[in-house]
Amino acid sequence: MAELEGLEFGKSDFVLLDEVNMEQFMENLKLRFEKARIYTFIGEVVVSVNPYKQMDIYGKEAIDAYRGRELYENPPHLYAVADAAYKAMKRRAKDTCIVISGESGAGKTEASKYIMQYIAAITNPSQRAEVESVKNVLLKSNCVLEAFGNAKTNRNDNSSRFGKYMDINFNFNGDPTGGHINNYLLEKRDIQTCLAGSGKEHVEKAIFIRSITDSSFVMNVSTFPQFNFCTVLYCVCVCVCVCVCVCVCVCVCVCVCVCVCMCVCVCVCVCVFPQLLRGGSEEMLGSLHLQNDPVNYVYTREGAASTTSNNDRSNHRAVLSALQVIGFSEEEIDSIYRILGTILILGNLQFETDSESVQVVGLEAVSHIAGLTTTKPDNVTKSLLFRTVATGGGEVIEKGHTEKEACFGRDAFAKALYERLFCWIVARINAVIEVKDYNPVLHGKNTVIGVLDIYGFEIFENNSFEQFCINYCNEKLQQLFIELILRQEQDEYQREGITWQHIDYFNNQIIVDLVEQPHKGIISVLDEACLTVGKVTDTICLESMDAKLGQHPHYTSRKLTPSDKTMEFHRDFRIRHYAGDVTYSVEGFLDKNKDPLFQDFKRLMYNSSNPVLKEMWPDGQLSITEVTKRPLTAATLFKNSIVALVDKLGCKEPYYVRCIKPNEMKSPVLFDDARCQHQVAYLGLLENVRVRRAGFAYRQPYARFLQRYKMTCEYTWPNHLMETDREAVEAIVTQHGFQDDVAYGHTKLFVRTPRSLFTLEQERAALI
Ligand code: ADP
Ligand code: MG
Repeated sequence: MAELEGLEFGKSDFVLLDEVNMEQFMENLKLRFEKARIYTFIGEVVVSVNPYKQMDIYGKEAIDAYRGRELYENPPHLYAVADAAYKAMKRRAKDTCIVISGESGAGKTEASKYIMQYIAAITNPSQRAEVESVKNVLLKSNCVLEAFGNAKTNRNDNSSRFGKYMDINFNFNGDPTGGHINNYLLEKRDIQTCLAGSGKEHVEKAIFIRSITDSSFVMNVSTFPQFNFCTVLYCVCVCVCVCVCVCVCVCVCVCVCVCVCMCVCVCVCVCVFPQLLRGGSEEMLGSLHLQNDPVNYVYTREGAASTTSNNDRSNHRAVLSALQVIGFSEEEIDSIYRILGTILILGNLQFETDSESVQVVGLEAVSHIAGLTTTKPDNVTKSLLFRTVATGGGEVIEKGHTEKEACFGRDAFAKALYERLFCWIVARINAVIEVKDYNPVLHGKNTVIGVLDIYGFEIFENNSFEQFCINYCNEKLQQLFIELILRQEQDEYQREGITWQHIDYFNNQIIVDLVEQPHKGIISVLDEACLTVGKVTDTICLESMDAKLGQHPHYTSRKLTPSDKTMEFHRDFRIRHYAGDVTYSVEGFLDKNKDPLFQDFKRLMYNSSNPVLKEMWPDGQLSITEVTKRPLTAATLFKNSIVALVDKLGCKEPYYVRCIKPNEMKSPVLFDDARCQHQVAYLGLLENVRVRRAGFAYRQPYARFLQRYKMTCEYTWPNHLMETDREAVEAIVTQHGFQDDVAYGHTKLFVRTPRSLFTLEQERAALI
């Protein structure tokens, strides 16, 4: 494993390409994929292609090979990056982060798990009890969050829309002491889009189910890897325990059992609804007024058909027990399930229009909802059928819903209940896992490794609000990437007395400004349009964008006549992103940007006698005149969360993993050139290579360099007789003829390309 790869596997670092162009890049990427070399470096960045098959490259042997080693001493691997991040954190007390990006299905979550697995394997060698206990809570949290947040339909991974960010805290020993989950949201307001047409009841429900079961409205639920990490951490410790106690069979059996239990927890990945409906006891379901089959509920019917029911009972029990272990009180657990019950019952609610007004069909459901949410049935009915509005003259009136509006309100309410529940659970878990009583004087600096698992740049045939947000996020991350890489380089060159060479790169700040600048940017125009009283359409909004941004070099818009497209006067705008042009259809932008939930529901929940529910809805105490002023829109909320994220990442030393999905068929042998090229372009990988090649990709303190390579030079083996280590290093470099590829700093040797180091490594390997 530790052997370096031969040339038949292509270039293990894209920096080594003879020329930096798309053709050579793709050729190398494809060759390596075909030779089962799924990882390739760009300096310290790892490019990963999803192999869609189990690879035997993650075992203990591999972990040992990468532990404490330099990047170029081994073939490219996630472990190399994980080790670099961990080393920087431990040796230099630096906060680090690993940013994993790529499109859905590219292998981000798997990569984050392997990274965690690696970090887990190399920490807590002494198995201290308090670290074990932290791990246990993290593990249990995983179980809960996967049940509530990781809700794939097993049919369509692509529709999920969340990124994940988590921090793991370490003590001065480099052992995990806790963590923090960050969740930031992007709601997909599919329901509203569907309501635009008439007679689409079926479609509307189906899409809502997808929203709930894919948790696609949760943009950054975070944390799953963190908990996978702990799971793995736990398993690794168990395995270590197995090794130590080989002679005691009983111990082995116990350990194996623990491992099996872990797996049960880890596999909790089905949506919490089918778990509850198929796995909840009769008594529990009875108290929630639920029937025991997901097909009975509109929101779960479709998902139920595509998910298996084998593990629901045990998963349900595992979640319940995990909630207890984490420290949720009985009252809180009860409230969680009451909210889930409310959502399911809400989904089945129907409305009818009699001669003049809209009514709820079947008042029993209303009384169940009132019971579960500890509110009054009359108030529930009222919230479902009316909304309070403030008139221009400051008068507050109640306006009856149309049937369509009532359906919309019901679904928005159910969705908001789930979203708030999820956020509340995350906040509760954070309170438990946050590092407490850490005294830096006694314990040394508390350091952090952050792991971000987030969508890469997206471009589809039809790009909408979601792509706009995701691509804006990627602009911000690119900005951070450039800034950090360049800043780090500059600082280090200055410290080491090396002449700084200007790196020519595209600064995408101009695009970031186009989107986020106050008063002028796209988000600001969108928000203005959403907050304007009266009928503002997407087209009117686009016109005001044109008026403000028409002259911007990265913005254009157009109006397609019906002959261009089948639709009527379709409008779109185009942003010239750092990674390429993307055309966004403006249709639905405004609806998706608004808060779809009527204040009446918020007030209803705030007035609940259940303190847990009340806590989730603090904004329910606002009066209608207060809320209509300037509610935060989805785009602004998203922008704020991304700004906060970038701030968080900005003070850490970054490491990058760029994931590529080789094909749409989940095939281990198919390399779809066009698809891959598309991703390479949108991940900005060529730019990465250019930036990397412009500076010195590698550096090493003289003593360490000598120690490793002194055997390759007659003047330094076994010991050199020169005055300084630097001179000895110069002798090695000159003997191997790569003096033009290096610069000598005060304490370190700087090497421009990895080619020189690979040569040394190969020579060294041949000698030992
Ligand atoms: P993403 O998080 O980017 O959407 P995942 O990490 O969930 O993608 O990967 C999707 C699927 O691809 C996984 O379920 C797994 O089957 C496969 N996969 C991804 N990475 C690997 C890997 N390193 N080895 C084997 N299979 C992988
Ligand atoms: Mg994922």
